[in-house]
Amino acid sequence: YVKEQGGGIAKMYAPEAATKTLERILLENELRKSVQLGHFTLEYQPKMNLAIGELAGVEALVRWNHPDLGRIPPDKFIPLAEETKIILPLGEWILREACKQAARWTRQGFKPFRIAVNMSAVQLEEPDIVETIERILMEENVSPELIEIELTESAFADREEMRYTIQRIRDLGIIIAIDDFGTGYSTFSYIKELPADILKIDMSFVKDIDVNQNSRAIVKAIVTLADTAGLNVIAEGVETVEQAEILHGLGCREGQGYLYSRPLPPEECEYMFTNVSKDE
Ligand code: C2E
Ligand code: MG
Ligand code: MG
Ligand code: MG
Repeated sequence: YVKEQGGGIAKMYAPEAATKTLERILLENELRKSVQLGHFTLEYQPKMNLAIGELAGVEALVRWNHPDLGRIPPDKFIPLAEETKIILPLGEWILREACKQAARWTRQGFKPFRIAVNMSAVQLEEPDIVETIERILMEENVSPELIEIELTESAFADREEMRYTIQRIRDLGIIIAIDDFGTGYSTFSYIKELPADILKIDMSFVKDIDVNQNSRAIVKAIVTLADTAGLNVIAEGVETVEQAEILHGLGCREGQGYLYSRPLPPEECEYMFTNVSKDE
């Protein structure tokens, strides 16, 4: 018995596992503190119309600026925030901040464009999520047409209830995009039934589109599918002119990526916007 227990303990406290757990606990604590102290900001990345090279909207991306640890990338903390449900208060802050920014930019007299906000499936599972979104938009005095919500395929595939929730968000007048499209498990025929307006082609297909026939074929298939289903398509991770040209040739009308701009703090994006008074 003792031996068995000893073995179990030794296994449990294998140095690597122990380190990971400790790291995780520390990070979770810091994450909670940072949500309370407001150590987050949003950056914005433009989405471009590939044909005319004009701004089509922006995507808001969260940044964690920890006072001691420095900047921690979303891929490092979003999964943890989801597991611990810290994404609920954080996600509310993100949507509210994006709405505040939309209101600010409107006040500054920029020609209106949509701000896309990423949302986790965990947030959609909250029973009052639709009311929460509606309330935030109302409190920040932002019209739903100015907001787009990006969800990954898993949010749609999970359950009938999720799709119903997404449809209710859409009924508010918010545009719904499927992020990282092509990496999930939705079958093509299934897409027509999804309550979505936009497919965002995952950057893995864009990365090697100039050299990989397969990637081109996939992008072409996604574009055809989108046309049939009446959805818009945007490609993410566009880094070169060549990629942009190929995408445009394949019928993809919008693109986003470092070729146009990295995600930027709000003040640094404004050079890309059109002024209403100048324009009309
Ligand atoms: P995503 O929503 O698919 O966002 C695209 C990611 O690709 C962003 O990384 C963006 O900075 C990066 N990117 C944009 N253009 C290029 C390019 O040309 N080349 C390359 N290599 N990368 C490019 P980021 O900001 O680190 O975010 C990573 C992921 O974290 C996001 O993927 C999203 O899943 C998640 N995330 C970010 N912000 C939020 C948020 O506010 N809420 C939630 N729930 N998730 C977020
Ligand atoms: Mg996204
Ligand atoms: Mg993506
Ligand atoms: Mg992603």
